[in-house]
Amino acid sequence: MLGAAPISLHKAYSAAAAYAYTARVAALGERWPGSPGHQKTQDLIRQTLQKNGGQVEADEFTATTPRGPIAVHNIIGKFNVSADPKQPIFILAGHYDTLFKPGFIGANDGASSTGILLAFAEALSRQKTKMQIWLVWTDLEEALESFVGDDGLYGSRHLAQKLAANGTAPRIKGFFLLDMIGDKDLGVARETTSKAWLQDYIAQAAKQLGYSQFFFQYEASIIDDHAPFLRAGVPAVDVVDAKFGRMGPQFDAMGEFHHANTDTMDKVSQRSLEIVGRTILRAVELLDAP
Ligand SMILES: [Zn+2]
Repeated sequence: MLGAAPISLHKAYSAAAAYAYTARVAALGERWPGSPGHQKTQDLIRQTLQKNGGQVEADEFTATTPRGPIAVHNIIGKFNVSADPKQPIFILAGHYDTLFKPGFIGANDGASSTGILLAFAEALSRQKTKMQIWLVWTDLEEALESFVGDDGLYGSRHLAQKLAANGTAPRIKGFFLLDMIGDKDLGVARETTSKAWLQDYIAQAAKQLGYSQFFFQYEASIIDDHAPFLRAGVPAVDVVDAKFGRMGPQFDAMGEFHHANTDTMDKVSQRSLEIVGRTILRAVELLDAP
């Protein structure tokens, strides 16, 4: 052997697997915390991590919400953990809960981020990295009433505060949040509160793979799970398609299918999961370089 093979995490990733996981999660139905679908999603995440050699950890607490106390379960899968206490950490995250709304199954908003991370677990079982990679499924991202004050982002806020308090935050080299990235009409926003230098790695990866047209063609400011990590001093990017279906005053600000019961599997495409998954993992490879 003449040394380690070049890292090709993005080639170890299967978009077909990401799509199949997304469909499987969406088929579990409503997945708000406390629902049967939510419990089944947790089981699937834990089983998939175990099968692929991830170290499974939980971050659990009871959130105080406008509708009373709610049990919250963030799930963390750690890969490539070395003995070095200073080993850099990189986090790939997405929320797995869905909106508290009867009939809402969130194929794109909830299932796509859950499914792509499950496929990342498979890729990480096949390809090593120097950085420690954490896959984080955040819980209770959705607001009970609206994203005002502290309603929403419950799971990510708790986890970010915990990592800041226990001294882990400075080891986190970066954080990519994936949200609503399965949209057939893919267009990832340049989210304006995110770290631009870290977005540039994604832009570079997209360019290398011939996907530039799908990234950063418009700007949007989004309240999302990356915000608590930014506040904790972690460089973070919200990788989000902020235009879901037709746009206009008669629709939600993020498009006609956003938070609508029409957010179903027919709006999701394997090709979009391929573009985003390969680009994100290519960006991780670039960040993993010496
Ligand atoms: Zn949502």
